[in-house]
Amino acid sequence: MAKEIKLSNMMQHYLSVKEKYNDCIVFYRLGDFYEMFFEDAVLVSKLLELTLTGRNCGLEERAPMCGFPFEHAQAYAAKLVEMGYKIAICDQLTEAQKGVMVERDVVRVITPGTVIEENLLDEKSNNYIANLYLTNDNACVVWSDITTGEFMISIISKENYINKINDILVRIKPKELILKQCDLDIIKNIPAITYKSVENVYVYQDWAYTQENCIKNIKNQFGESGYGELKSEDSAVICVGSMLQYLLETQKITLKNINKFTIESTNDFLSMDINTRRNLELVETVRDKSRKGSLLWLMDETKTSMGARLLKHQIENPLIDINQINLRLNATEELYKNIVLRDEIAQNLNNISDIERLCCKISYGSINPREILRIKESIKNFPALKSSLNKLNSTLVKTANESICDFESLYTYLDSAINPENPPIVIKDGNVIKKGFNEKLDEYRSLISDSVSWLNKLEVQEKEETGIKNLKIGYNSVFGYYIEVTKSNINLVPYRYTRKQTLTNAERYITPELKELENRIENARSEIEKLELSLYQQVKEVLLSNIDALLLSAKNIAIIDCLVSNSIIASKYNYCKPVLTKSNQIEIVGGRHPIVERINKQEAFVSNDTVLDDDENRTMIITGPNMAGKSTYMRQVALITLMAHIGSFVPAAKAKIGLVDKIFTRIGASDDLSFGQSTFMVEMVEVSNILKNATEKSLILLDEVGRGTATFDGLSIAWAVMEYISKNLKAKTLFSTHYHELSELEGILDGVKNYRVTIKEYNGNIIFLRKVVRGSANKSFGIEVAKLAGLPEEVIYNAQNILKKLETADVNKNITEEKLQLDKEYEQKNKNAIEVCNIIRDINIEKITPFEAMQILFDVSQKLK
Ligand code: ADP
Repeated sequence: MAKEIKLSNMMQHYLSVKEKYNDCIVFYRLGDFYEMFFEDAVLVSKLLELTLTGRNCGLEERAPMCGFPFEHAQAYAAKLVEMGYKIAICDQLTEAQKGVMVERDVVRVITPGTVIEENLLDEKSNNYIANLYLTNDNACVVWSDITTGEFMISIISKENYINKINDILVRIKPKELILKQCDLDIIKNIPAITYKSVENVYVYQDWAYTQENCIKNIKNQFGESGYGELKSEDSAVICVGSMLQYLLETQKITLKNINKFTIESTNDFLSMDINTRRNLELVETVRDKSRKGSLLWLMDETKTSMGARLLKHQIENPLIDINQINLRLNATEELYKNIVLRDEIAQNLNNISDIERLCCKISYGSINPREILRIKESIKNFPALKSSLNKLNSTLVKTANESICDFESLYTYLDSAINPENPPIVIKDGNVIKKGFNEKLDEYRSLISDSVSWLNKLEVQEKEETGIKNLKIGYNSVFGYYIEVTKSNINLVPYRYTRKQTLTNAERYITPELKELENRIENARSEIEKLELSLYQQVKEVLLSNIDALLLSAKNIAIIDCLVSNSIIASKYNYCKPVLTKSNQIEIVGGRHPIVERINKQEAFVSNDTVLDDDENRTMIITGPNMAGKSTYMRQVALITLMAHIGSFVPAAKAKIGLVDKIFTRIGASDDLSFGQSTFMVEMVEVSNILKNATEKSLILLDEVGRGTATFDGLSIAWAVMEYISKNLKAKTLFSTHYHELSELEGILDGVKNYRVTIKEYNGNIIFLRKVVRGSANKSFGIEVAKLAGLPEEVIYNAQNILKKLETADVNKNITEEKLQLDKEYEQKNKNAIEVCNIIRDINIEKITPFEAMQILFDVSQKLK
C-alpha cells in the first residue's frame, strides 16, 4: 500500500501562520533557533547569505529551510527591515514536552515604520509610520512614532491636495506608508512616492477602514473624549482608526505611550519643497548626505535625544506665527543672558536619558532593570532642573516647567526597589530587587547565604570526622550538592555516604543532612525567582501608571533643551536676536552664512547687508564671476530668514525679518538621470514649480537659471522668468547670474536692483573681495576663473582671443533690442484684443441689422490683423 503523504503537524501549523501573515517573512521559533521555510527560506538565505538546508516535512521532498540562533534575531530582522521587508516573529508559547506539540504564535510583526529596537533607530531622528486616507471631499494623513508616542493628524482639503500630501510626506519622511488598495493609483502621482522619498508603501486590508471598527479603536486608545474631538471629521476617524488597527495587529498590544494626538494644520509651518530642503542642507549635505555641514549639525547643541529630535523637527518645520516665534526667541534671549543658570540647566539635561523611548519599553512591558535605573538616574535631576527653571521668567520656560513633574516619590520608590549594582538584564538571573524592598525576599536570600556558611562548616566537620583532607563539597546543576572524594581516599568513606556519581578520579556522595540542606536551598532559590519576577512586575506597573507624566515631562524637557541649544549657539557664534515683523521686508545688517563661516577656516568670512521689500527692492540681480560668493550670499539670506522663523538667533549684526510663507530655491545643477531627466529638464521643472506656487510673501532664490542650455536660450528664459516673477508674483527674489546682460532689467522692471560681488583685477588675475555692492559686473570673468583653476596658458590665451572677436559682434546688444521690440508688439496686440472684446460685449444683437453686423465684423477683423 502506498504511504500516505501528509505534512507534519508542525509544518501544517507553520503554513497556517504563513497564510495569515503572507506579506511577511515568518521567523519560526524551533528550540534555540528561528527557522524559515519554503519560499521565505530561499529568499532569506540569498539576502542574508545563510546556508539553505532542508527539513523533513512529511512530504516526499524536504522543505527548504534556513535559520539562525534565536539571539541573533534582532540583527537579522534589522537587515531585512532595512531592505523593506516585514517580519512576523512566531514564538514558542509553551515549554517543550514529550508527545505534546509546542504552542506557537506570532507575538509581533516588525515593519519599517514600527521598529522599536535600538539598533534600528537613530536616537536623534523620529521613525514615522503614516497612514493615508482619501475621500471625495478631503484627505487625511496620520503619522506616528511609536517609540516616542507622537501621534499626528492632518486633514487636507481637496483643492491641490496632491501637493499638500506631498509636502507632509517630504517633511516627515515616513519609513512606511499604509493605505487602501483603491487609493494606490492616486498616490502614484505624488512626487514623494514617484521619486521614492517614501519607499515602503503597503496596501492595508479594506476592512480595517470600516467606520465601526475605527470608532472602537479610537475609543480604546484615546477614550471617549478623544473620539469626541475627532467625530465631526469622518476622514480623520477612519484614518486614525485604521492606523490604530495596524498598530494593534502588528504590535499585538495597545500602546500605552500613545496617549494623545495632535491635529496639525498644513498652514502652521513655513512651506518648503523637497528641493529647497535639500538645497539649503537643512539636515544633511547635498554632496555626501552627511549630517556634518548641515544646518542641524550647526544648530544642535542639545543634550538629550528628545531635544535632538525636537530640534530636527523645528528646523524642518519653521513657524509662521509671529507670537509663537517670539515665545521661542524671548526664552532663548533670557537663557542667552543668564549664562550661569543656563550652564546649570545644561548640566542637568546632560544626565537625562531618552525618557520617551524608555516609555515605549514601559508600554511594551519589556523594560529591563538597567533601563529602569536609567529612568531613575534621569528623574533624579528633575528637582534641581525645575528649581533652575523657576528662576527664569520667559513664558515658554515657565509653561514648560509647569509640565515637568519632580517625580520625587517615584525616584524614592525606584531607588528602594532596584538593585543599583549592575543588575542583570534578564530578571531570572536574580539580584534585581534591592535588599530591604521586600521582607520575604530578604528572608529567602539570608537563608541561602546562611546555607553557604553552613556548607563550609559541614565540609570542615566531614574532613575531621573522616580524616579525608581533600574532601570537597560542591554543586552542579544536574546532580545537585555532593561530597567529592578522590579515588585514593574512598577506603575512608563512611557508610552513611550514598554514592551519587562516579568520575575518573573521584566519587561523589550525598548524605541525609546535605540532602535536606539542598532541598532548603533549592526551595529558597525557586521562591526568590518567583518573588523577584512578581516584584519586578509591580515595579513595571508603577512605571506604567506614571507613563503619562513621564511623557509629558520628556516633551517639555525637549523644549527646554532646544531653547538652551539655541542660546548656546547664539553665544558661541555671536548671533543676534532677529526682529520678526508682519511687513514684507527683510533687512539684514552684517549677515553671514552660518555654515561657511564655521567650516572655511582659510578665509575670514566677509559679512554683507541685505534689503528686500515689496516695493523698490523686490528683486536683487547679483552678478559676479564664478567663485565670487553669489551662492553663499543668497543662501545666507535664506538661512537667516529660515533661522528667524525657527525662533533662533541669526548670524548677523542686526536682522529685521518680515514673515515669509514659503521659501523656494533653484540652486545648482543636478542630473536626475535615474528618473530620466536631464539637468536642464530638472532645472525647468523646478522653476515651473516655483512660478506656480510662489506668492508675494515668498522668498525665492534662483541661482544661474538658464545655464543648462545654449546662451541665448538660457538668457531668454532667465529674462522671461524674472519678468514673470516681477509682474505676476511680486515675490522677494534673489537672482544670481553670470549673464551680466540681465542687469539691464533694472530700470525696465519695477523693484529690480542690481548688485555685484566685488573682485579686484590685478595683473590679469582676480582677487575675491566678497563684498556685495550696488551695480552690476560688466563682464563674466570666466576666463580669469579658468586661469585660477590652472587651465594651460595656451588655452587661456586662445579663449581671450575668441572672446574679443565675439564681443565685437555685440550680440548682447542685439538681443536686448530685439526683446524690447517684441515686447512693444506684444503689448499692442494685447491692447487690440481687449478692444475687440469690448466691441463684441457692447453689441445689442436684437437691435442691429445684418448689414451693421457685417460692418462690425469687418472692423473687428481689421483690428486683429
Ligand atoms: P559663486 O556662487 O559666486 O560661484 P560661491 O558662493 O560658491 O561662489 O563661493 C565660493 C567660495 O567662496 C565659497 O565656497 C566660500 O568658501 C567662499 N566665500 C563665499 N562668500 C564668502 C564670504 N562672504 N566670505 C568669505 N568667503 C566666502
